[in-house]
Amino acid sequence: MNKIEHIGIAVNSLEEANNLYTQLLGEFPYKSEVVESEKVITSFFKNGPNKIELLAATHESSAIAKFIEKKGEGIHHIAFAVDNIYEEMERLTKAGFQLLSTTPKKGADNKLVCFVHPKSAHGVLIELCQEIK
Ligand code: ZN
Repeated sequence: MNKIEHIGIAVNSLEEANNLYTQLLGEFPYKSEVVESEKVITSFFKNGPNKIELLAATHESSAIAKFIEKKGEGIHHIAFAVDNIYEEMERLTKAGFQLLSTTPKKGADNKLVCFVHPKSAHGVLIELCQEIK
């Protein structure tokens, strides 16, 4: 695990959250991207070596919609940058972590991603992400 790559925040309205985070960070988001497979629209802000990812549901069946329904808006996941996602997934599986998929998926921001179940990480959804070269 190299560093915290980004923190994902679940929001109701991407437009409203974009405005607020632009004011907060003093910078506009550098990209917005729809991830069809997850039924979300995201936007990304740079903050030093880290990023903030805002996530809004594009459909009520999205995991983000369900998260907000249960817990309200707020921090959804913490993402760690890894060099080799396959090796990290194997390492964590051997260490007893429960992963949400057996193979990495294509995530937002040009990344291969995999999630660790919050049940095996003290209630925090952990994302592993590897830059696609
Ligand atoms: Zn993320």
